Amino acid sequence: MYRSEAGTSSAGGSRVESVVDLIGNTPLLELSETAKECSPGVSIYAKAEWFNPGGSIKDRPARRMILKAIRSGELTKDKVIMDSSSGNTAIAYAMLGASLGYEVEIVTPENVNTERKKAIEAYGAKITFSSPLEGSDGAIRMAHRLKADNPEKYFMPDQYNNINNLLAHYETTAPEIWEQTKGAVTHFLAGLGTSGTFMGTGKRLKEYNPDIKTIAIQPEESLHGLEGMKHMPTSIVPGIYNEEAADEVVFISTEKAYEMMERLMDTEGIFVGHSGGAAVCVTLEYAKKLKEGVLVTILPDSGRRYLSEGLWW
Ligand code: PMP
Repeated sequence: MYRSEAGTSSAGGSRVESVVDLIGNTPLLELSETAKECSPGVSIYAKAEWFNPGGSIKDRPARRMILKAIRSGELTKDKVIMDSSSGNTAIAYAMLGASLGYEVEIVTPENVNTERKKAIEAYGAKITFSSPLEGSDGAIRMAHRLKADNPEKYFMPDQYNNINNLLAHYETTAPEIWEQTKGAVTHFLAGLGTSGTFMGTGKRLKEYNPDIKTIAIQPEESLHGLEGMKHMPTSIVPGIYNEEAADEVVFISTEKAYEMMERLMDTEGIFVGHSGGAAVCVTLEYAKKLKEGVLVTILPDSGRRYLSEGLWW
């Protein structure tokens, strides 16, 4: 089928008051080439989360955590928004801080890639580096130390333990998927980082239809190259995560995820980040076992955010 040459963006040319209003309502993309390996009754869809203004799915929870804190009075203009993040949440906080008029300080491992570092700084946020050897857990520990030492200075959203992280997906990501599939979704698969995406979206989808299967995806190894994802058995487990919420947990290798990134570029013309490659790889393997189904997964960010790493050639 030929599509309109003009096309439509997710914002549909609408008029909005601020960049905050551009968050969410991302397109649901059909991966028809990828699904050709499956039975005719199986289709695969993915939320194109790089359409968010900060470039990733993390705009959604960052918006909710910050707006809730402003409304409750916990975040006042004299406070600095400070949290740990390996990149995407950091960029979301930096963008929202610039838009809403708050200072932002990000704790991130020193080996954060150039694109992320430059984007955070371009929005005017400050970066405090934690040890590259300690990964995202080292950044979490340092952020908690900073907050404990300066309780009055900082508002720390604490995305790993903040229920608003999960609720952002419960209230936006899941209803979008439900409406965009007209209630036909049968499986939801998502990678785990803070677990907010999986926990919030999965919970709401199961309320719409308890038969929907939810599958959580983790890196196979403790030391992996899947930016944004966590190997739970060897990590500080986020307070918002409950493994029992998942019908299944599937582990994936870095190599297979990268192979799928390349394949998505070649066959679908879609340039996704590491965790998007992991998500589609697991979704396809799962889909191949089914006769019928509408599988939905998440593409958290774009591969453009990783170009300096040169992992594809
Ligand atoms: N992929 C990427 C690229 C991310 O930045 C994140 C966030 N850490 C995730 C996946 C996982 O999302 P969540 O934190 O909602 O589990």
